[in-house]
Amino acid sequence: MNKRLSETYRIGIKGLVQGVGFRPFLFRMAIEHGLKGWVENRNDGVVLELNGSESQLSSFRSAVLAHAPTAASIESVEIQKVARKSFDSFEIKASSDESTFITEISPDIAVCRECLNDMKTQPHRIGYPLINCTHCGPRFSIIRDLPYDRAHTTMASFEMCPQCRSEYSDLNDRRFHAQPVACNTCGPVYRFEHAGGATEVFKEILDRTCELLSGDALLAIKGTGGFHLVCNAFRKEGIAKLRTMKRRDGKPFAVMFKSLEEAQHYVEIGESEKAELCSWRRPIVLLRKRRELPRGIADGLVNLGVMLPYMPFHYLLFEQLTTPALVMTSGNFSDEPILISNDRAREQFSAFVDGIVSYNREIFNRVDDSVCTVIREVPTVLRRARGFAPSPIRTGFDLEGILATGAELTGSFCMGKEHLALMSPYTGDLKNLETLAFYQETYERYCRLFRFTPRLVVSDLHPDYLSTRFAVKLVEENPDLPHISVQHHHAHIASGMLNAGLEGEVLGFSFDGTGLGTDGHMWGAEVMKADYINFERLFHFEYMPLPGGDKASKEPWRMGVSYLHHCFGDEIYDLKIPLTQRFGRQEMGNIIALIQKRINTPMVSSAGRLFDAVAAITGLNYYSTYQAEAPMLLESAIDLNEQGSYPFEIETGKVSFTSLIRSVVEDIHKGKSTGSIATKFHHTLVQLILRLSLEIRAESGLDRIVLGGGSFQNNFLSEKVMDKLENENFKVYLPHRIPVNDQGIAAGQLAIGAHRWKLM
Ligand code: ZN
Ligand code: ZN
Ligand code: FE
Repeated sequence: MNKRLSETYRIGIKGLVQGVGFRPFLFRMAIEHGLKGWVENRNDGVVLELNGSESQLSSFRSAVLAHAPTAASIESVEIQKVARKSFDSFEIKASSDESTFITEISPDIAVCRECLNDMKTQPHRIGYPLINCTHCGPRFSIIRDLPYDRAHTTMASFEMCPQCRSEYSDLNDRRFHAQPVACNTCGPVYRFEHAGGATEVFKEILDRTCELLSGDALLAIKGTGGFHLVCNAFRKEGIAKLRTMKRRDGKPFAVMFKSLEEAQHYVEIGESEKAELCSWRRPIVLLRKRRELPRGIADGLVNLGVMLPYMPFHYLLFEQLTTPALVMTSGNFSDEPILISNDRAREQFSAFVDGIVSYNREIFNRVDDSVCTVIREVPTVLRRARGFAPSPIRTGFDLEGILATGAELTGSFCMGKEHLALMSPYTGDLKNLETLAFYQETYERYCRLFRFTPRLVVSDLHPDYLSTRFAVKLVEENPDLPHISVQHHHAHIASGMLNAGLEGEVLGFSFDGTGLGTDGHMWGAEVMKADYINFERLFHFEYMPLPGGDKASKEPWRMGVSYLHHCFGDEIYDLKIPLTQRFGRQEMGNIIALIQKRINTPMVSSAGRLFDAVAAITGLNYYSTYQAEAPMLLESAIDLNEQGSYPFEIETGKVSFTSLIRSVVEDIHKGKSTGSIATKFHHTLVQLILRLSLEIRAESGLDRIVLGGGSFQNNFLSEKVMDKLENENFKVYLPHRIPVNDQGIAAGQLAIGAHRWKLM
């Protein structure tokens, strides 16, 4: 066969290749290799037809694999010869399919290596802190409308200088069709302001920022998707200022390290963690500490949230700074959404910070930093925002027009376009008006951006969730809109099924804090047979009084008293353990009175509250300053040398923990360490899940197990459960692209809504 003979080839490239500048890249490659034809987006990748010789094709293929944009991930390239056609040029075919239109909106991409190099070498971009190219830079955060071109972004007001324009128009340039292209001459600029004045001279800004961050300053610095509050991770004063500002909120802070090497001194980084940390998404990755950082960052926790620089400004900062690490946390007051506007930052932060660093390119879509963890080598997203939003989840069914409004905590909604599930970025806990306003604003923007009109609305069962009220309001405004309510824990399981593309019936373990059950009680430890339509509750944790309702979720000691009283009755007063000694007869008596008189004391079946009780009984945590503090401290206490576990009782449909609690108290009396007790407790849950799974499989044949709910953010629990179940030949699914916590609820609601709707 003549290798030089020109033939027509069809090339299918599969993987994540949309919205990352891939087609302009292929265009360049094709021209470079003298190939004519076309490229078109498909649902699972792109397809090209090219005329050329076999050797041209083969070098084209190698070049594509070698030089693909950073954010692209190619799974496969298939080349096949097809009937001869003739082409005059190479063209990018406009896609007629709406979903491909949508997938062209890329998430924000961390600055690429070439741009960092250009920042040192290109005369018009020397030190330019907002440098970007086709392969990197802001995307979702600056998009106002479709199609994705400069006029539809917040770069519209900046006119390209002749040099940028020529790069933008030159298909041989890496900035060919890079919408936010900019340089020192024409692009947005940084600004530093403090009580004494302001400057827009970049060298001064950088010097001043570095000087302040070398000391005890707290600064607000504009990031990609919102403001960060930033201080030196090794200066107690700075950390103290940040804690004062966030006083109602004890959440651990994330730390940005200068480099992977610097981070390695403080945290353990395995291969998968490294890949995630360095990925173009640049999420916060939870990593096991090797060394303690100063107090106030992530006290008492085994993990530290770590990220690496992702904006040119971060790199410039660390080049000059002597500290290897900065505390970087969302620029907000607790429970409020991250601030994005320069004016608002000035209004809200001036009184607390030593300076504000901003730039004059507007952030249109707010996106917080994403948070990931690695569970058994699988990167698992826990907070889905920057770098992920608005990438859709592809499903096998029609979702068009379905809106799912999500849960209450870690709020987010999910909308269906054709077969795509579009998850909103994390919008914060839907407990106050500010967060609700952000949620609403994001919803309106998504409607416009994705040309979405709701035809069905799906919400949680809980009537008081702001997300449910939002659904009800939509229905009131449009009485023809059907409304479906989905039980919280069912939604968790459906979301895991959707993540894994499962059909049919599965066995689900849905363990979390709370969600409203179909019997009016609060649920949170549910073992169910489930599909996308229905579920059958097979087992749950014994209902326990939650003295004080919501208050008890913030005060684990109340749950400790509740369990102790349940197990010991009035003997609780005679127990000699830290909890009973700390609170004494009077305070415990008040709680017991609430329980006995059933005053503001709902009944809960909840894994989260069991964790709370054990954390309180062992004296680890009496009051929580952030969500899931007690379970996180309990996980952090784990002692890997301990092999033991505790007994528990399984009756028809119910698991109770009287003997577990009694044994914990005995262990405390015996002087067993908190670490041992915490570990035995975790082992108990693992065994419990294993035993129930075996029992249920024997009866029903179900061998696919889906884990859902916030409790499975616990790495130790999830890993052990998955290992043990797989040993027994179960197939186990833990969602990793959809958060396992309540941010994932909306996706589950969407899937259930789609299936029930067909029956309506
Ligand atoms: Zn770049
Ligand atoms: Zn320019
Ligand atoms: Fe939940």
